[in-house]
Amino acid sequence: MTARIIDGKAIAADLRAKISAEVARLKSQHQFTPGIAVVLVGADPASEVYVRSKAKAVAEAGMRAFDHKLPANINEAELLALIAKLNADSAVHGILVQLPLPTHIDAHGVIAAIDPAKDVDGFHPLNAGALARGLPGLVPCTPLGCIMLAKTVHASLAGLDAIVIGRSNIVGKPVAQLLLIENATVTIAHSKTRGLPALCERADLVIAAVGHPEFVRADWIKRGATVIDVGINRVTESGKSRIVGDVAFDARDVAGAITPVPGGVGPMTIACLLLNTLRAACMQHGLPEPKL
Ligand code: NDP
Repeated sequence: MTARIIDGKAIAADLRAKISAEVARLKSQHQFTPGIAVVLVGADPASEVYVRSKAKAVAEAGMRAFDHKLPANINEAELLALIAKLNADSAVHGILVQLPLPTHIDAHGVIAAIDPAKDVDGFHPLNAGALARGLPGLVPCTPLGCIMLAKTVHASLAGLDAIVIGRSNIVGKPVAQLLLIENATVTIAHSKTRGLPALCERADLVIAAVGHPEFVRADWIKRGATVIDVGINRVTESGKSRIVGDVAFDARDVAGAITPVPGGVGPMTIACLLLNTLRAACMQHGLPEPKL
């Protein structure tokens, strides 16, 4: 068996095209342009790459980007003052603070200072609480992308046996909560979980967000299962560096459908950031949620 490859790049491109069309409609029919402020503190090279690709995607969607590059030694009060200014700015519908922040800044405090209606990363405690309760709110982008990709394989996730490997606040926990909302039966595994291979072997849907290269082995996967690989791990072999996921490459010989790395979950994360910005902008203008 060779798994169907879930083409995250193409699915994300399709979503981004629909978002662009909706942005154009808002401009012509409602005279506003969705805008997102991206705040980068310091010069972490990986964060700079992420911020650049987000800015490019925002521009391509026809949205406005407000970039704030701040020095690494900025103090917390100055950063909180900027967040307060962005909260009050009606042209800014979404605020994204690129993580990680320097250690002298309390990241939880900064995230909590963002207006929850502008929290397009979905990390604010009010949005996290809404998700835990199954209430409407802004949902973290990577988990949202994972669910959309799984739904390209299964019209309904209801009743599926799903395992999420990883319990971070950014990926593992929110993706598990979204699966519950979809009525899947969810197991959440983490570093203290015992008998992980056997738990995986039961699952119709495996979502791996561990951060260890090719950690999930092919012989843990049930034949025909759907595998969503969130991992982005850089490995160097014989002097050559490449990106691999959290799932072994040969899992595609067993799975029914699988996301590639790169080109699976990653592109969906950016598309879902645009989607959240569009949703936030519509909410702030009293317009209904866009149907894409
Ligand atoms: P974290 O390091 O925050 O969380 C990793 C999770 O994996 C933890 O819950 C940890 O358990 C669990 N874990 C670690 N070792 C094991 C083990 N041996 N067995 C079972 N579980 C284990 O990572 P993130 O959630 O932020 O990211 C996970 C991966 O996803 C990374 O590769 C990251 O680069 C990638 N990523 C990709 C994105 C994308 O857009 N494609 C976006 C965000 C992340 P415990 O809680 O017990 O420590």
